[in-house]
Amino acid sequence: MGRAYMGIPREKIPWRPEVDMEKCVGCGQCLETCPNGVYLLDTEIGKIVVAVPENCVVLCNKCASFCTQEAISFPDIQETKRLLAMLLREKS
Ligand code: SF4
Ligand code: SF4
Repeated sequence: MGRAYMGIPREKIPWRPEVDMEKCVGCGQCLETCPNGVYLLDTEIGKIVVAVPENCVVLCNKCASFCTQEAISFPDIQETKRLLAMLLREKS
C-alpha cells in the first residue's frame, strides 16, 4: 500500500510545491529546509527540481518562506482543506 494522509491515499491529494524556473536561482535553500527529500538540485541547469512531490507533507509550506526569489508556490490552502474534508467524508 502507498502513502496515506489521514487514511486518504496520498496520490489523491494534489499538495506539492511548484517551482517557477524563471525565478529560481538554484541557491538550494529549499533543499536544505526540507527534510523529506522532495527537492533535488539539477546541477546541469543550476535549478531546483521537485523530484519526489508525494514526499511533501500535506499542508506544509515551510520551504516557500525561505525562498528569497518567491519561486515556490503551493495549491490554494482553503481549497485543499475543502478537498480533504470531502475525501474524509467519502472514506467514512
Ligand atoms: S530556495 Fe528558491 S531560488 Fe533557491 S533553489 Fe529553492 S526555489 Fe530556487
Ligand atoms: S512544504 Fe514542507 S514538506 Fe513540502 S517540500 Fe516544503 S518543507 Fe518539504
